[in-house]
Amino acid sequence: MSYAIKMIKVECGEAVHEFPAKTSVGEVIKELYGRKSSAIAALVNDEEKDLSYLLSQNCKIDIIKDNSDEGLYIMRHSCAHLLAQAVTELFPDAKPTIGPPIENGFYYDFYMDPINEEDLNKIEKLMRKIVKQNLPIEREEHDNESLRNMFSNNPFKMEIMDDKIGEEVGSSAYRQGKFVDLCRGPHVDSTGKLRWFKLTNTSQAFWRADSSRETLVRIYGMCYSSKEELQARETLLREAAKRDHRKLGKDLQLFHIDEMVGQGLILWTPRGTVVRNELQKFISEHLNRQGYRQIYTPHIGKLDLYRTSGHFPYYQDSQYPPIVKRDTLQRLSDEGCSCGDLSNLMSEGEIDGYMLKPMNCPHHIRIYASQPRSYRNLPLRLAEFGTVYRWEQSGEISGMTRVRGFTQDDAHLFVTEEQIEQELLGCIELVKVIFGTLSMKDYRVRIGLRDSDSDKYVGSPEQWEKAEAACRNATASLGVEFSEEPGEAAFYGPKIDFVVKDVLGREWQLGTVQVDYNLPERFNLTYTGSDGEKHRPVMIHRAPFGSMERFCGVLIEHFNGMFPTWLSPTQVHILTISEKQIDYANQIAQSLSEAGIRIEIDTGDDTIGKKLRTHRSMRPAYLVIIGDDEQNEGTVSFLGPNREQVNGIPLNEFISKITSEIKSKN
Ligand SMILES: [Zn+2]
Ligand SMILES: [Zn+2]
Repeated sequence: MSYAIKMIKVECGEAVHEFPAKTSVGEVIKELYGRKSSAIAALVNDEEKDLSYLLSQNCKIDIIKDNSDEGLYIMRHSCAHLLAQAVTELFPDAKPTIGPPIENGFYYDFYMDPINEEDLNKIEKLMRKIVKQNLPIEREEHDNESLRNMFSNNPFKMEIMDDKIGEEVGSSAYRQGKFVDLCRGPHVDSTGKLRWFKLTNTSQAFWRADSSRETLVRIYGMCYSSKEELQARETLLREAAKRDHRKLGKDLQLFHIDEMVGQGLILWTPRGTVVRNELQKFISEHLNRQGYRQIYTPHIGKLDLYRTSGHFPYYQDSQYPPIVKRDTLQRLSDEGCSCGDLSNLMSEGEIDGYMLKPMNCPHHIRIYASQPRSYRNLPLRLAEFGTVYRWEQSGEISGMTRVRGFTQDDAHLFVTEEQIEQELLGCIELVKVIFGTLSMKDYRVRIGLRDSDSDKYVGSPEQWEKAEAACRNATASLGVEFSEEPGEAAFYGPKIDFVVKDVLGREWQLGTVQVDYNLPERFNLTYTGSDGEKHRPVMIHRAPFGSMERFCGVLIEHFNGMFPTWLSPTQVHILTISEKQIDYANQIAQSLSEAGIRIEIDTGDDTIGKKLRTHRSMRPAYLVIIGDDEQNEGTVSFLGPNREQVNGIPLNEFISKITSEIKSKN
């Protein structure tokens, strides 16, 4: 008597092959592609499975290679487990919580005492040891009860299971050595597959991202499928750390953040203020050319203004709390009113107060509404470098890029439906000019469109049709790379976002151009049309660089602190070789200043070598060195922006060279 072995058909690539049932995915791939397939998992009938998964019926297989997006995701997730194995071996009291893969790597959050740099090295060392051991990573199926027994000493995993009771997920676990984790997988099949990783840093996190819950230690790492990729990433991070605007901002004295003033509130020091003023001047020139009118508005406004705009009370969590009048507070406290009552009364509009403005739009709208408007006045373009205040969580505040007070390069355009496209074009043109001048050649545009399944949008479908087409046409006609992103529009209109790539290839989302049908409605804005009837204008909000703070932060990193001459806080540093040249140096300083060039002069006793080192570190565009030859010949010698030395240039020639450089912004 013979037993027939059940055979199954496996479709892989172009061909169909036969295998005995219960063959694993890994064996099939090895058979068909050899050992060097670089497969780390596979799609079986479009579902991600481990290589150890046993095939029991006819199916289709697609290999997941280690260097594909899906493959990297699985490797990074497996690295998170590897990290947790090492941590729990070194710190037996540490409780693993969650550990997902992220862009470039992974992290894992542990309930444990804070760790230091040395601990991090120890953990990484042990991870490498586990990789060498090449432990198998095995999937286990468990019912809920057995899972609860396995993780009974980890309240975090228990909480995850509590949330998922009755669901299929969480019924698998992955084991490697003595470590086991609650997990859906898939994973690589052995720790030996995880070679190109590195732990990067630790930070504080909260369980469930809730600051009222347990404080956790988050450990970050990066992981790639090859040594080259890992090294390239390490180089990039090293370079980025050197350029970090928080570090350079301090070294180059561009801005200061002071605990005594408040977190996330930027103090622009004199040198940083020069950069900001030059940028604002430059942007203003282009605003004037495009027919914008500049305005100033105060930093606060009445709560009622924001009730009308809808910013209050709906966005309270991201705003500083309201300012209530002293006598109102006194009266309420005499009446025994609690904080909760106060907040309710404010939300309902029973009592009034003021708010630090979270947006400039309502103020600008009131300027529009201050006069009757006719179609002849439109478009009305109101621009302001307007400062706004938002309550960012303290954990999210960072340097100049995430702050609590910032100045937007804001403007609001009040236009007719027909003018939308032309005005969007103007907005994009402005961005193009400014990015071009700042040698930010690499950027893209995202167009946020409606989600066709949702009915949350204000404005008629016809209006949306038109506005979306206007966004598309304006962007396309300028030859900028763009993508359309359905569902990314705000409920009140489509938008255009700008994303720039810096020299390191990192992307920064800057500002937005946003069409708005909502606020004109809420404020009942009108203009008189050519037909003599009242019509509703459309608003365009635009702050293409986001904020001066964020933009300057990005620029500091983009230029590595070495600003082009026109933006340089000090354009020329004049250094003397000995005291004999003091008079001549002062003369040069005066001539340069009179030509409107920002200078610094050092006639001190230090050697020229020391002076050069000190002044070079401030990264001025030019370092002028004055010795006997220069003095005798009435010339200057200098190190220019590329730091090559040029000798014996007549002073006048030097001045006209710099002034033309400043003028052309080259
Ligand atoms: Zn996992
Ligand atoms: Zn606005």
